[in-house]
Amino acid sequence: MLFNIRQETLPREDLEALQLRRLQDLCARVYANVPFYRKRFEESGITPADIKSLDNLKLLPFTEKQDLRNYYPFGLFAVPRDNIVRLHASSGTTGKAVVVGYTQRDLETWAEVAARSLAAAGVNHTDTVHVAYGYGLFTGGLGAHGGAEHLGATVVPASGGSTRRQAYLLRDFGATALCCTPSYALHLWEAGQEAGIDFRDLPLRTGVFGAEPWTEEMRQDIEQKMGINAMNIYGLSEVMGPGVAMECLDAKCGMHLWEDHFLPEIIDPVTGEVLPAGETGELVITTLTKEGIPLIRYRTRDITSLDYTPCRCGRTHVRLTRIKGRSDDMLIIRGVNVFPQQIESILMESEGLTPNYQLVVDRVHNLDTLEIQVEVDEALFADEIRKLQSLEGRIQKTIKEFLGVSTKVRLMEPHSLERSEGKAKRIIDKRLEK
Ligand code: AMP
Ligand code: ZN
Repeated sequence: MLFNIRQETLPREDLEALQLRRLQDLCARVYANVPFYRKRFEESGITPADIKSLDNLKLLPFTEKQDLRNYYPFGLFAVPRDNIVRLHASSGTTGKAVVVGYTQRDLETWAEVAARSLAAAGVNHTDTVHVAYGYGLFTGGLGAHGGAEHLGATVVPASGGSTRRQAYLLRDFGATALCCTPSYALHLWEAGQEAGIDFRDLPLRTGVFGAEPWTEEMRQDIEQKMGINAMNIYGLSEVMGPGVAMECLDAKCGMHLWEDHFLPEIIDPVTGEVLPAGETGELVITTLTKEGIPLIRYRTRDITSLDYTPCRCGRTHVRLTRIKGRSDDMLIIRGVNVFPQQIESILMESEGLTPNYQLVVDRVHNLDTLEIQVEVDEALFADEIRKLQSLEGRIQKTIKEFLGVSTKVRLMEPHSLERSEGKAKRIIDKRLEK
């Protein structure tokens, strides 16, 4: 079901006209109110009046995470502090946090796009939505919460943690939708198994999963284990939070990016050149309506592509293909570029393996090594050691064949890798400590 039929089905021409008007207004706003942007415009020799078509977007300079850090905490805000009603900060594990501020209208926009997103996943006002994204500075919890409330659903603001208790809550409150990271969904499912709760017997039918990369194979695994539709949601704090783009249940193929609020481009991450529609590269987003901290051509570092072909659901907004990785978490192993998701896809095709895995990168005698630690399921674990060893060898061979890189695969006991309540930590790069 469409939440906002008019906006979600705007013909492309009207959508582009709206985008241009909003882009022009955005440029005027940041030029007048944010010294950082005024300086950037001046350095590029342009003024807001030069933006006469959407194509002129190319004239504008990029904004990067480092810019937000340099102006920590509030230097890029475009409205007086008095108009900011909420602050969030991204969970970044390195460097200074990135702080974002929302006006009342920003929160309304966020609730609108998050509600559209839930609706696209098949959630409606009759649903009970269990939100197990972390609440707090992280945008996941409150973002999903705002959307579910705006939709008129019943919200269970569970946040992360107390996993077994959450499994009981899912059963007792009869939630029909679950919002969390895909890795935490599996963690919850395991806790349910241990507590004798089979998710397939519960009313739960929709998962709204995002905030970390995952694969089509992991989707199938989750859907089969939990008996639900596992839907992909995309967002980032700098741009808004969850609900920037969302898959629709009709096609389950690509995430509609809400183009009346967010203007996407795909660039070559090395040269910064804009790539033609359909090509894979780094996603760049311009926030068309955001007031608190508007962003011009923000480099997300997420690698994906844009699909402008019509969708069978009737929504006209472009679809973002599943995120293939980040330009900054791409591993370079002896010169070969490897994305964790490529490895995940191969692991998940093997019977008996779970999606709980970790990649340990090291440098031994000046040579990069990659060890893949992956947990097996209980059934496989009970098998003879010889069988396990031959499986390790087979996976190593497949990875070598498909990705061209030699690895060491280590099958691990069920439940031996650390679980995360939010985003899973997939990579341990020991080279960075050397
Ligand atoms: P944060 O600002 O902490 O919410 O982190 C945002 C980042 O999480 C994005 O830039 C992506 O790298 C990642 N992310 C969010 N949603 C997804 C998704 N559905 N698939 C893959 N990565 C995602
Ligand atoms: Zn669709």
